[in-house]
Amino acid sequence: MSTFRALLVTKPETGYRCDLTDVDASALPAGDVSVDVAWSTINYKDGLAITGQSPVVRSFPLVPGIDFAGTVTHSEHPRWRVGDRVVLNGWGVGETHWGGLAQKARVKGDWLVALPGAFSERDAMAIGTAGYTAMLCVQALQRHWAAQGVAPGSGEVLVTGAGGGVGSVAIALLAALGHRVVASTGRPQEAAYLAQLGAAEVIDRASLSAPGKPLQKERWIGVVDSVGSHTLANACASTRYGGAVAACGLAQGMDLPASVAPFILRGVSLLGIDSVMAPRERREAAWAALAEHLDPTRLAAITREIPLADALQAGRDILAGQVRGRLVVNVNA
Ligand code: NDP
Repeated sequence: MSTFRALLVTKPETGYRCDLTDVDASALPAGDVSVDVAWSTINYKDGLAITGQSPVVRSFPLVPGIDFAGTVTHSEHPRWRVGDRVVLNGWGVGETHWGGLAQKARVKGDWLVALPGAFSERDAMAIGTAGYTAMLCVQALQRHWAAQGVAPGSGEVLVTGAGGGVGSVAIALLAALGHRVVASTGRPQEAAYLAQLGAAEVIDRASLSAPGKPLQKERWIGVVDSVGSHTLANACASTRYGGAVAACGLAQGMDLPASVAPFILRGVSLLGIDSVMAPRERREAAWAALAEHLDPTRLAAITREIPLADALQAGRDILAGQVRGRLVVNVNA
């Protein structure tokens, strides 16, 4: 019987564990496509799953990892053939279905997206769910701007949580699309890194993270917010008339202590972004746009590589806000 290496979350009577272990291949969950995983990554949600800090994992035992890139080894799905290069983001993988922090995965073929030719499996995970979500945010803003007749370069775009995964990719994408990007971070020591990604200005996140006035000086034509809470409220309050805020995260908090003033007095739109259950057409459009606008060589600056054994510590680090950019996990190292 063949085995493969994986992180495995279990819930013994004594609490919650996540261990690096060898798993029998026959234990893989049901699915019509089997994949040899090449690379996975550590997202914020993976940190929650690895540590048990939030109830992300809802079925035990479970392999965490909300995304992976690899090669199809078996398929009973009409769209996939052995040898196809694929990427997976979300769909409850790493939460209710075994995920990517392992050498093998078995999933529903409907969940997979073809890996764009421009990217290696490692590139795809350097982007990961964080980068794909950043693109969903950017595309939501683009649809809004197109409807409002707002041209790129006609105003500033704010990116919060700038030093994180979503934030880093959002900066690179927005800058490549011709926007003047303002990066909000709690890590001023990373100003050079953020400028290298394309940020024109770096601001202290403390200027956004405390309770603020319901309407503030109008500044942003758009915002990519991965932080939530007061930061999101202040971002809405300082968005220009007719602008939009794409909200995808909760790094500061899940609350939204805001007023309706920006929405009803300035026509500001709050665009909710979910990557997990996003329909296939939207995923394919996001990956195609990533291939078009994100230079793979740019990814080098935001990416650090770790072996599977280090993923346990990395899960703790990302929750502590100590991870810069993206961590890719070589599941075979
Ligand atoms: P990271 O941990 O890489 O980035 C989050 C960043 O937020 C940090 O790097 C930090 O940036 C900032 N931050 C952390 N704590 C605080 C705080 N208390 N107050 C203000 N800012 C803070 O995570 P990801 O980029 O992977 O994910 C970001 C968020 O987006 C998470 O909440 C995640 O769950 C969510 N997400 C949602 C998705 C969806 O489908 N909606 C998909 C992917 C992610 P800095 O140090 O620069 O200030």
